[in-house]
Amino acid sequence: MRCPRCGADNPEGKILCRACGARLRPSAAGGGQAALPARESDAELRRRVSYDLTRIVWVMGVVVAVGLGLGLMLR
Ligand SMILES: [Zn+2]
Repeated sequence: MRCPRCGADNPEGKILCRACGARLRPSAAGGGQAALPARESDAELRRRVSYDLTRIVWVMGVVVAVGLGLGLMLR
């Protein structure tokens, strides 16, 4: 069974990951479970922001290139 936190392969039936100690089976109490989704969504948010920034830079570059091209053509 694969560890949800570090991805290490653990023998079937283990409760804690042998590599990082994370809980392999979701428990009703879920003490350490809350931190993981929050960290994942944080990384996801950061990834999306950087993706948006990259897209904005691309769009601005295309607009500037088209503007320069039109300026050269109309001259
Ligand atoms: Zn692990």
